[in-house]
Amino acid sequence: MCSMPTPPWARSAAGANTYDAATATVLPTIYERTTAAAIAHGGINLGQGFPDAEGPQWLRDAAAEAISTDAGPTNQYSPGPGFPWFREAVAAHQEKFYGVQLDPQDQVLHTTGATEAIAATILAFATAGSEVVAFEPFYDSYGSMVALAGAELKTVPLRAPDFRPDCAALRAAVSERTSMILVNTPHNPTGAVFTGDELAEIVSIAAEVGAVVMSDEVYEHLMLGEADAPAHSTILSIPGAEDVAVAVGSAGKSFSVTGWKVGWVTGSPQLVNQVRGVKQFTTFCTGGAYQYAVAQGLQDDRGFFVQNQAELRAGRDLLAEGLAAAGLQAFTPDAGYFVLADVRGVTEQTASAFAAELVAQAGVGAIPVSSLTLLSTQENHEDELNYLLRFAFCKRHDVLTRALTRLSDWLT
Ligand code: PMP
Repeated sequence: MCSMPTPPWARSAAGANTYDAATATVLPTIYERTTAAAIAHGGINLGQGFPDAEGPQWLRDAAAEAISTDAGPTNQYSPGPGFPWFREAVAAHQEKFYGVQLDPQDQVLHTTGATEAIAATILAFATAGSEVVAFEPFYDSYGSMVALAGAELKTVPLRAPDFRPDCAALRAAVSERTSMILVNTPHNPTGAVFTGDELAEIVSIAAEVGAVVMSDEVYEHLMLGEADAPAHSTILSIPGAEDVAVAVGSAGKSFSVTGWKVGWVTGSPQLVNQVRGVKQFTTFCTGGAYQYAVAQGLQDDRGFFVQNQAELRAGRDLLAEGLAAAGLQAFTPDAGYFVLADVRGVTEQTASAFAAELVAQAGVGAIPVSSLTLLSTQENHEDELNYLLRFAFCKRHDVLTRALTRLSDWLT
C-alpha cells in the first residue's frame, strides 16, 4: 500500500483527533463518536447539540409546499448567492433586530449552513503562512479550516466562571502576521455573550493589524440570560466593523432545524464578494425550498424565538441544578445549548477520561471541552479547560431527568 501524506486539515487539533496517520484512516468527529458510544451503551446522548423536538410545523409546511407545489422556487439550481427574496429577508431581519442596514444585493450571501459560511470565509481570508487567532474553546471546524488554508491557529482562552474574552491577551496574541480573528458570540460551548465594548475592542485590534474578523453568530436567538446579562448584537452594529468584519448566521439553531443547513454571511460588498468567490466552488448553491421556508421565518417567527428560549431556559436550569446536586461545578450560561461543568468535585481524572467512563458505565454522553481546544497538541495538560465537560440541554426534560438520575446513581 502506498503511504499517504497526512492531509492538511488533519494537522489541526480537531483534525488530529479525527485522523489515524498510521493507516490513513479518517475517523468520525468527537460528536459522532460520542453519539455512537451513547447508542452502543443504550445511553442518553447529551453530547451533540441538536434539539430532540422538531422546528415549528408552519415552517416545515412551507418547505414541503416549496418542494411539492409551484408556490415556491422550483427544485432546480438557485442563484449562487441565494434567492433575492432570501437575501432580502436576511437583510430585513438584521435591520429589525440590530438596526444594521445591508444591501441584499451584495451584502448578504446564502450558504449551506454556517459550516460552509465558516469554511468559505476562512479560505477567503486566511492566507497561507499567516496566523489566525481564535478564542478557545472553539467550534471544531475552525481549526481544520485554518489548517486547510495553510495558516496557523493561535488561541486565547476563555476562563471560568464567566468566560469573558480577554482583549489584552488578544492584543498580545496578534501581530502583523495575523490574517484573521475568529469570534463566536453567543459562544459555543461557554454561552458567553460578548458585549458591545468587547466587540469594539476586537474590531479595533483587527483594524490595527489589518486582520479580518469573522463573527459566528449562530446562537443569536438562543438568549437565556437575566435582564442584566449582556445583550447580543451582530458585530456589524459596531462602528468601523464593516471595514474589517463579516458576520455568519444560521437558521438551524434559531428555528430548531439543524439538519436544514441554511446559513448566511453578511458584511461589506468587498468582503462578502471575497467569500462568494470561494463559495461558488464549494457548493455553488443548495436548498431552494429551505431558503423559501427560512425567508418566511426570518420575516415573522410567529413567537417561536421567545417560546423556544423559555423551554431552553427551563432545560438549562434543570440540567445545571442536577449537575451541581451530583457534585460537579456547573456554570449557568447566558445563551446557547450547553452547560459546562468542572468534574474535579467528583474525580481526579481529566474530563476526557471521565466522559469515556460516563458513557460506558452510566450511559450518558457528554463532550470533553479539551477536544475543542489546542490542548491535545500542547505540553500543558494541567490547564483547567482539561476538566470541563459539555452537556447539551436542548433535549426533552424527561430525557434530561433520566440522564441526571443515571449520573447521580453512578457517582454514589
Ligand atoms: N458555529 C457554531 C458555533 C456551531 O455551534 C455550529 C453548529 N453546532 C455551527 C457553526 C454550524 O452551523 P450549521 O449547522 O448551520 O452549519
